[in-house]
Amino acid sequence: MPQHTLTVAGVTVDTRHWIGGERLASATTFTDISPIDGAVLGEISRGTPAEADAAVAAARAAFPGWAATPRTERARVLHAIADGVDKRLDELAIVETTDNGALLRSHRRGVMPRVAHNFRFFADRLLALGHEDFDTRGHRNHVRWDPAGPCALITPWNAPLMLESWKVAPALAAGNTVVLKPAEWTPLTASLLADIAARAGLPAGVLNVVQGYGSEIGDALTSHPDVRRISFTGSVPTARRIAASAAPHLTPTSFELGGKSPLLVFADADLDLAVALAVEQYDNAGQVCLAATRILVQEPVAGEFVRRFTDRAGRLRQGDPRDDATDIGPNIHPAHLDKIDGFVRRAVAAGARAVIGGHRIDSRYYAPTLLTDVDQDAEIVQEEVFGPVLTLQTFQEEAEAVRLANGTRFGLAATVATGDPARAERVTAQLVAGTVWVNCFFVRDLRAPFGGARSSGVGREGGDWSFDFFCDLKNTVTAPKGWQDHG
Ligand code: NAD
Repeated sequence: MPQHTLTVAGVTVDTRHWIGGERLASATTFTDISPIDGAVLGEISRGTPAEADAAVAAARAAFPGWAATPRTERARVLHAIADGVDKRLDELAIVETTDNGALLRSHRRGVMPRVAHNFRFFADRLLALGHEDFDTRGHRNHVRWDPAGPCALITPWNAPLMLESWKVAPALAAGNTVVLKPAEWTPLTASLLADIAARAGLPAGVLNVVQGYGSEIGDALTSHPDVRRISFTGSVPTARRIAASAAPHLTPTSFELGGKSPLLVFADADLDLAVALAVEQYDNAGQVCLAATRILVQEPVAGEFVRRFTDRAGRLRQGDPRDDATDIGPNIHPAHLDKIDGFVRRAVAAGARAVIGGHRIDSRYYAPTLLTDVDQDAEIVQEEVFGPVLTLQTFQEEAEAVRLANGTRFGLAATVATGDPARAERVTAQLVAGTVWVNCFFVRDLRAPFGGARSSGVGREGGDWSFDFFCDLKNTVTAPKGWQDHG
C-alpha cells in the first residue's frame, strides 16, 4: 500500500497533488530530502502532463463560479485562509525550514506572518479596487477589473510559501482560479496551503497544486490554451523556455527573475551601517534574488570597510537553521553547492582573492565568502551565484559607481549607502533597478510595485499592479439616454 503522507516534526503533509478538491497520486514519485542533514523526508507524487491537464481542467471548471462570487465573499475566504495560516504558523515554519533550510526564527517571526499578510492585503485591496468613472461628451466611461481565467503559478525553492502566497492571493482575489506548481526541491508547504484553503471554504478547483519537475510538466501548463495568465518566479533560462511555450497562445506572462544587485558605499556613508547592510546579504545562505552581491566601495574608505566587514562577518554563526543562535543555514542541495563552488573556483583561478571564505565546509554548507580583485566583466561579477558569495570592487567617482552598478544584464534591486541626501537622489535616479533602497535593505511594502528591469524580469506585481496583471481590464462606454452620437 503506497504511503501518501509524510511527517515533519509531528506535522503530517499529504504528498499527492490537489486537483479539483481531491488528492490524486501519480504513478511515480520523486524523493524530497532536507538540506539540513540530507535526511529523506518522503516520496512526492511526480506529476505528468496528464495531471497538469487535469489541474487546468479543474481550474477551468471552477472559474465561472469563483469569478461570479461577490468580491466581499472572495475577500472573506481569503481572510479565512490568512487565519488558517496564522493558526498553523509554527507548523508551516518548521516544515518550511526542514524542506528548504532557511532559518526557523525567520520563518516564525517574519516569513509566515507575511504569508498571512499577503492574503489579507490582497483581500482588502480587492474591496478598494476601482477607478473613477469619467465622461466623454456626456458618455460614461466605466473601468472594470474582470477575472482573466485559470492561472499557472510557478515558484522557486528559496522562499516557497512566501512567493506562492504572493501570487496565489492576488490571483484568487481577482476572481481567477489557480494551478500552483511549487519547486521540486520544496514541495511541502504548498500541500499544507491546499489543506488550509480547503478548510477556509475555498471551493473545489479554485486552487489546485501539482507537484513535480518543471522540465516534465512545465510545458503542459505554460502552453495550455485554457491558461490565461502565467506568473513565474525563477531563473532566466526557465523564463525563456516559458516565454517560448506561452507564445503560440500569446498567454500574458509575469516574470520575476534573478539579480546581481549592487550595494554602493560612498565615503560619506555611516560605515557601520554600510557594513551591516553588506553582511545582511548572507541571509538565507545568499539564496535571495534581491541580494546585493556586488559591493562597490569608494576608494578612501575601502580598507576600513573591509576591516570592519571581516570582523563582523567573522562573528556569523553557521549551522542548523532550527537553532535560534544560527545566522546562516545550509544551501538548498549538494548539486547547488557544487554550482556555487564552481563559480568561486573559476573566479579565484582568474585572479580573485578570497578575503574570507572561498570554500565549502561540507556537502551542504558553504563558507561566507568575500572576493576582491575582480574585473567588471568577470563571470563572478556578471552572473548570479545564488550562494553566500559577495564581490567587492572600488570606485573613485560617483559616475564610475553608477556605471559599475548598472554594468550587468540584470536590474532587480540596488542599495545605496550615503550620508548625502542630494547624492542619494542623483544616484538613485540613474540606477537601473526595480527597487532601490537608500541606507536600508529589504523593506518591502505590499502596496509597492515589485519586479525587475532588463533580464531581472518582465512586468510588475504588488499592490494594484498585481490586479492589472491578473485581470482583463474592460472599459464600458455608455451613452446617456436619448443620445445619438456616432462621431
Ligand atoms: P528555476 O527557474 O530552476 O525553477 C523555478 C521553477 O520553475 C521551479 O518550480 C521549476 O520546477 C520550474 N520549471 C523548471 N523548468 C520549467 C519549465 N520548462 N517550464 C515551467 N516551469 C519550469 O529557478 P530556481 O533555481 O528554483 O530558483 C532560483 C532563481 O529564482 C534565481 O535566479 C533567483 O534569483 C530567482 N528568484 C527570483 C525572485 C524574484 O522575485 N525576482 C525571487 C526568488 C527567486
